[in-house]
Amino acid sequence: MRRGHVPQRTCRGCGRKAPKSELLRFVVTEGALALDQCGGLAGRGIYCCNHTTCRERLAKSKKIRKTD
Ligand SMILES: [Zn+2]
Repeated sequence: MRRGHVPQRTCRGCGRKAPKSELLRFVVTEGALALDQCGGLAGRGIYCCNHTTCRERLAKSKKIRKTD
């Protein structure tokens, strides 16, 4: 039996790709990042490793403020 394709997401902190389930999902709301704990937040999702380094980089990133 073939296993299904695992959706990959890119960490915005370090740029590595990982299965969605390994990454934290953040949502940009009003220019600020909110951690989406249960997957229920609406909005643009941003993924990040569950590592302090990545989360700090993400928090410092200016790019996330750009909404399109
Ligand atoms: Zn990362």
